Amino acid sequence: MKKNVLTLAAVVLLAGCTSAEEETATETEQTAPAEKPAAEKETGPVIDASYFNELKEVDGLQVIQNPENPLVLVNKEFALPSAYTPPDLVRPNVQYSFGDQDIEKSYMRREAAAALETLFKGAKEDGQYLFAVSGYRSYDRQEEILAAGAAASSEEEALKSIAPPGMSEHQSGLAMDISSESNGFELNQSFETTAEGQWLKDHAHEYGFILRYPKGKEDITQYIYEPWHFRYVGGDAAVMIYENDWTLEDYFEQVKPAE
Ligand SMILES: [Zn+2]
Repeated sequence: MKKNVLTLAAVVLLAGCTSAEEETATETEQTAPAEKPAAEKETGPVIDASYFNELKEVDGLQVIQNPENPLVLVNKEFALPSAYTPPDLVRPNVQYSFGDQDIEKSYMRREAAAALETLFKGAKEDGQYLFAVSGYRSYDRQEEILAAGAAASSEEEALKSIAPPGMSEHQSGLAMDISSESNGFELNQSFETTAEGQWLKDHAHEYGFILRYPKGKEDITQYIYEPWHFRYVGGDAAVMIYENDWTLEDYFEQVKPAE
């Protein structure tokens, strides 16, 4: 009798040691899927309501009324006001493809600029030397660029890679085009094959940036794949977007404003 009790205790103990984790995991697997997806569908990840675009229709365009929002969604559907200039543009202390010139395109908004400096520092620590090529761009400058592109090919062709004025993320001061010496400081598709391009694709989110126009998402973003264009959105959003393989458009389909 006594022997049986001991044996039983030993078996229970043994079972506890070897399969405790497994049992917990099984339990989670059994209960969670039934509740979680339904709950997530109802609420989605919740973010502050101020991160959503406030829109007003002006001359048939959806114009963003809160352009200073760091998560502002700028695309061919939602435009920045023509008079908008970010209030806190600074020149990030990074290497530029054009050297030390203090020109418009070297600027970014303060928070994005600080994150860019950390990003470039992180890259350097991994042996990757990045170069900033083009950041802030005014509405007027965007107009000139599109006109030049249209003159070189056609307006239709130009619009595949050049945003209409107001619809460029560069006007937000939150985007930076990045290249490398190995890519001749060019902004083109071959940047994805360079070590620097690969590094950025894998690590930008750790610094609050997303690859804004991914390959295979052209239908959603309405832009060709741009392995060089990075957009600051802040750490939480960048990680969520990266981990779910979303675009910024997808992100705003999924998140819900806090009540
Ligand atoms: Zn760009």
